Formats: sequence, C-alpha cells, structure tokens
Amino acid sequence: KQVLLKEHLMSGNPKDSNMCVSTSKIKLKLPRGFTGVLLKNLYLSCDPYMAARMKKLDASSSYALDMYRPGQPISGYGVSKVLDSGHPKFAKGDLVWGFTGWEEYSVITATESLIKIQHTDVPLSYYTGILGMNGMTAYAGFYEVCSPKPGEKVFVSAAAGAIGQLVGQFAKLSGCYVVGTAGSKKKVDLLKNKFGFDEAFNYKEETDLVVALKRYFPEGIDIYFESVGGKMLDAVLLNMRFKGRIAACGMISQFDGSQTAGVQNLMYMIGNRVRMEGFIVADHFHLYPKFLDLVISYIKQGKLTYVEDIAEGLDNAPKALVGLFSGRNIGKQLVLVSKE
Ligand code: NDP
Repeated sequence: KQVLLKEHLMSGNPKDSNMCVSTSKIKLKLPRGFTGVLLKNLYLSCDPYMAARMKKLDASSSYALDMYRPGQPISGYGVSKVLDSGHPKFAKGDLVWGFTGWEEYSVITATESLIKIQHTDVPLSYYTGILGMNGMTAYAGFYEVCSPKPGEKVFVSAAAGAIGQLVGQFAKLSGCYVVGTAGSKKKVDLLKNKFGFDEAFNYKEETDLVVALKRYFPEGIDIYFESVGGKMLDAVLLNMRFKGRIAACGMISQFDGSQTAGVQNLMYMIGNRVRMEGFIVADHFHLYPKFLDLVISYIKQGKLTYVEDIAEGLDNAPKALVGLFSGRNIGKQLVLVSKE
C-alpha cells in the first residue's frame, strides 16, 4: 500500500484530494549486488514542509528540495525496520529513522539519511518527532539561534505542535518565562497544564494580537520562536525588546499565499537592534549525538513531556498531513503503519 501524489498542489493549502492510496507488488528480497536497503515502514512523520513538495515549482523557490511527482509515492521522515540489506552499515532487523516512502515497504538507495536507532527503551514513534527532525529543530532553533539566558521572556507560536511544545519546555528548563499561543482552548489547556508554559492564549479569540502580547509581555519579548509568520509576526515585531532575537523556523500561515503582504513592522527591528535569523535544521545535524543524550536523559528523568497525535494506517495518512494546515493535530502528528 502506498500514498501517491495524485496531482500537483496548484494553490492554497494541501487537500486530501492531492493524494490517493494505491497498492502495487514488491519483492521482499533485494536483488543480488544491490547496495541499498529494503525497509518495512512502522511510523511516518507528517510535516508542513511536505506540502511545499507537492507544488509544481522549481526547487529554488522552496527549502524542500525534492519535489513529489504525480503517480509516485510521497516521502518524508519515518521509523522503519530493515528487512534486507546490501549495505555494510545496515543489517536485517536494524531499526532506523530517516527518509523513507509513504508506503508499507520501501527500497532505499539514498541510505545516508538513515540513522540507526540505538536507544529502544523509549517509544519508537518518538524518532518521528522529539528524538528526530522536530526535536533537532526545536533544539537548534532555541539554543543555537536564540542563545537564551535565564530570566528572559520567550514567546512561542504553534506552541502545541511538534516543535512548539518542545521549545516551550526547553525555555522553562533554561529558566525563562514562556508564553505560547495556539488555535484552540484544548491546546491552550495543554500548554499551561501539561507542558508547563507560564501563560498561553488562543490567537483565534484575540481581536488585537498586539494588545494580547502586551498583556503577557508588558516589558517586551526577548525571544520569539516563529512558526507562523503573517499577522502574528507583525504583532510580535511591535513587542520585541532591545536586542531581542527571533528564530525564523517556519511561516505556516503564509503557505497558502494569503498573508504575504501582512508583515509591515520590520522597521521596528532597527531601533530595538532585534536580530531575526532563519535557520534550517539540516545545517545542525552535527549536534545530533549531543542532542540525543540530553533529550533522552530529560525524558527518562521526567523533565520533558511529549504529546503525539497518531493516525492509524496509510488510508488515514493524507487526512493527517492535510490537518496540519487547519490545526487539526494536537501535538506531533504521525501515522502508524505497523507496530512491528
Ligand atoms: P505543528 O505540529 O505545529 O503543526 C502545525 C500547526 O500550525 C497546526 O497544528 C496549527 O496549530 C498551526 N497553524 C496552521 N495554520 C496556521 C495559521 N494559518 N496560522 C497560525 N497557525 C497555524 O508543526 P511543526 O511543529 O512540525 O512545524 C512548526 C513550524 O516549523 C512550521 O512552520 C514548519 O514549516 C517549521 N519547520 C521548520 C524547520 C526548519 O528547519 N526551519 C523544520 C521543521 C519544521 P494551531 O491550532 O495552534 O493553529
């Protein structure tokens, strides 16, 4: 069973109808001399950048380089078991995470993205998120880009999602005051009562985001972890403190093209000497071993909480991916393909 790109995404946010589920036959044995691996996919990660790969664009207009092709399975991060290997680094039975297909079984030739899973005393699904690309994004963006100091005031958007929930908790572990925003009451409750944010608010219920931010940050924001862009970014720019830092991680509200003209307050960065820095997680993977040690020890000590939203089966995968753009997910969205 595979999830194929049915047709390119021409405008707006992705829809289920851009994808379809189909079946084809695969030999569960690699041909002799083949140097890749045959994987059984267990968990697949749903990530906003995947929608950009559905567009019919030249790759230079997106940070997601490999565009999906109609009729071909889409791909992304996943957790898989090696069923057969022609590669000296991998053996039958190994568990790995990295790039794989949205399908039950994948033959992977580009094995450089695959990382062998050594710690199996945590849920395997965690390698689609907190111990995988999302965790690394939160870690690199917060610690490397924002250089937090105890006592600083931190604001996180898309705070109840895969990355936001971790950034908020990293901020608390660094001795910061942290406020998150999300799009429902249930998510706001989670932020305050499960992830330990000092404050949280539902941005959809605010008539004036500038006023809302002033309520939680009367002296201004030192660090903004940016995942949504548009009107939120504009409101934040009016609330940044002297020498504040903005980690530009993502701008999901601008994906459909509706808010691109919305950011008008960039000039306020000048007087306040605000630094805004875009970053891509791929540039920080040399930190993965250090990150993994830290985060696994935090999980085992109960210092980090993690919420997943698990869609069951490939048939439900398109809907799960599309749901990221309406905020349907609560926590990290992933797909369970097979438990073993
Ligand atoms: P999430 O799990 O946070 O899911 C996306 C969330 O975005 C939704 O749940 C929704 O939450 C919110 N959202 C959707 N549409 C809007 C909108 N129009 N306005 C405001 N909020 C919206 O996703 P991730 O944690 O995986 O990703 C967060 C961001 O990080 C994304 O922008 C992504 O592109 C970016 N990213 C960047 C990377 C990098 O290397 N720079 C790597 C990975 C991700 P709500 O209900 O709160 O609205």
